[in-house]
Amino acid sequence: MQKTKMLYEGKAKIVYETEDPQVLIVHFKDDATAGNGAKKGTIQGKGIMNNKMSEFFFKLLKSHDIETHYIDTLNEREMAVKTLRMVALEVIIRNVAAGSLAKRLGLPEGTPLSTPVLEYCYKNDELGDPMVNRYHIMALDLARVSELDDIESISFKVNHILTDFLRSKNVNLIDFKLEFGRDEHDKIILGDEISPDNCRFWDMTTNEKLDKDRFRRDLGGVEEAYQEILRRVTA
Ligand code: ADP
Ligand code: UDP
Repeated sequence: MQKTKMLYEGKAKIVYETEDPQVLIVHFKDDATAGNGAKKGTIQGKGIMNNKMSEFFFKLLKSHDIETHYIDTLNEREMAVKTLRMVALEVIIRNVAAGSLAKRLGLPEGTPLSTPVLEYCYKNDELGDPMVNRYHIMALDLARVSELDDIESISFKVNHILTDFLRSKNVNLIDFKLEFGRDEHDKIILGDEISPDNCRFWDMTTNEKLDKDRFRRDLGGVEEAYQEILRRVTA
C-alpha cells in the first residue's frame, strides 16, 4: 500500500490517497490541540497509542457486526481505511455529565445521566463546531433523515459495546465523539478514530481521568494516562 498524495492535514492526523481510490492511509500525529486550536502542544507517542487503540476498538466493533472504515494496520502510526465522503458532523454520546454539557446544564461533572444523550456538532473549525439539531442538519443539507437514523442507531450500539467492554477494565466511559461518512454505495460507515483524544475515560474506582482532559486542563501525567488506558484496553 503506497501513499500517492496528501489529501488533508488535520489537527491530529494526516490523510493520504493511495493507488486505490477506495483506500486512504491515515497517519496519527503526536500533535495535540484543545479549545478549537487555542491550546497547542505535543503528547509524546500519542500517534502510536491512538493508532493502536483505534485498531483495537475498530476490531472489537467488527466482532459485534459494526462496520467501520478500518482495513488494516500498516505500521505503528498508520492504518489503511475505506475512503469515505465525511458527514460534516461530530456525534457526541454522553453517559455521565462532563465538559461542555456539565457547564451548559449546571450539572456537577460526574453526574450520571438517566439515559445516554446524543448531541450533534457541525464540524466547522471557523465556527468552533457549534451544536446543531436534526432541523439545522436538514436545513444545511448536511445529512438526510435516513442517514441520521443510521448514525444514531450505530452510535448507541457503539456506546453499548464500548461501555460494557470498558467496565470489564474498571473504566467508566463518560462520553465520546464519533464521525461518520458515506462509502461508494452511500452507506453510512463509522470513520475517524476512537482514542483518548475523543473519549473521556475515568477509572471506575478513583475517577482518575485517563484521557485528553489531562492535556486540556493541564493536569499533568498526560503521556502516562494514554499509556495506562492503552495498557488496560489491550491487556
Ligand atoms: P480535524 O479535521 O478535526 O483536525 P484530524 O486531524 O483527526 O481532524 O483529521 C482527520 C480528518 O480525516 C478529519 O477531517 C476526518 O473527518 C477525516 N476522516 C476520517 N476518516 C476518514 C475516511 N475514512 N475517509 C475520509 N476522511 C476521513
Ligand atoms: N470531543 C471531540 N472533539 C471535539 C469536541 C469534543 O473529540 O471537537 C469529545 C471529547 O473528547 C469528549 C466529548 O466529545 O469525549 C464531549 O466533549 P465536550 O462537548 O464536553 O467538549 P469539551 O469539554 O472538550 O469542550
